[in-house]
Amino acid sequence: TRTPLTLLGTGAMGTALAHSWLGAGHPLAVWNRTPSRAQPLAAQGAELFASAADAVAASRLVVVCLLDDSTVGEALAGVDLRGKDLVNLTTGTPAQARSRAEWAQARGARFLDGGIMAVPPMIGAAGSGGYVFYSGSRTLFDTHQEVLAVPAGTLFVGADAGFAALHDVALLSAMTGMFAGVAHAFALLRKDNVPPREFAPLLAGWLTAMTPWVHKAADQLQDGDYTKDVVSNLAMQVAGSATLLRTAEEQQVSSELLVPYLALMERRLAGGHGEEDITGVIDLLARPSVA
Ligand code: NDP
Repeated sequence: TRTPLTLLGTGAMGTALAHSWLGAGHPLAVWNRTPSRAQPLAAQGAELFASAADAVAASRLVVVCLLDDSTVGEALAGVDLRGKDLVNLTTGTPAQARSRAEWAQARGARFLDGGIMAVPPMIGAAGSGGYVFYSGSRTLFDTHQEVLAVPAGTLFVGADAGFAALHDVALLSAMTGMFAGVAHAFALLRKDNVPPREFAPLLAGWLTAMTPWVHKAADQLQDGDYTKDVVSNLAMQVAGSATLLRTAEEQQVSSELLVPYLALMERRLAGGHGEEDITGVIDLLARPSVA
């Protein structure tokens, strides 16, 4: 027999999660603020509840996938969580996850936070590469690993409840920079009518070819030596950046996506670090605590 569980939230992601658990034969209790959005799941065997409190009462394992952290607080306000294993798959910040963990523990629940590295179509699709970062209660994770592994791969990253969100947001932030670069590249081609579909394989291939730098930067950071195995040093890259900016001008494309990063490289160079890799930029990003 499969472990029964409760799911709060049947938006795009919650619905995908529900399908995967129902498909694998797990009895599923469901609540959604707008009941009509959960209704189709009943035909697949989910038991629908009119209140979050009743849905939570139905199972020991409770998975929450709502819009944001404050929605989680709202939905679970006044709900009896004693003895529950609460898994929060709602995207939030590390600090939100940590305080949500304390909040859950104060209500007598074990808590595990999750950061979903997948879009809904990747959920329950074997080999899609989607997975979920987990952090918080290792006991909860171990107890329910089989259920948690149904929708996507699982990766436990620490007892600190904030670590899943930290890893999640770090990946999303890097992705944001990559998408910014892709946007700029396509914009450059527009004036000369280079067909995006022809350029796309070159762009994707180039980004892939550059990713090993991630490992090099990691080695340089951990060894505290930014001059180790440098291929293109900072002085050379800053000199080259003038060409990037001039080309943007020639192509009548705004350089606003490039400028903040190039400015950091210049600041690092001005600090006398021309022989280093571009890794030193990371040091310039550290800010004193404002708390
Ligand atoms: P949707 O917008 O599709 O669904 C949002 C859900 O939150 C719905 O169940 C909605 O209920 C509920 N909700 C919103 N406001 C309230 C409220 N005030 N009280 C109660 N319930 C509320 O979002 P997703 O399902 O896509 O996302 C859910 C979580 O999963 C988010 O944290 C998202 O960041 C995360 N995620 C999503 C991914 C994606 O690609 N979709 C990828 C990775 C993570 P109602 O139906 O009543 O509006």
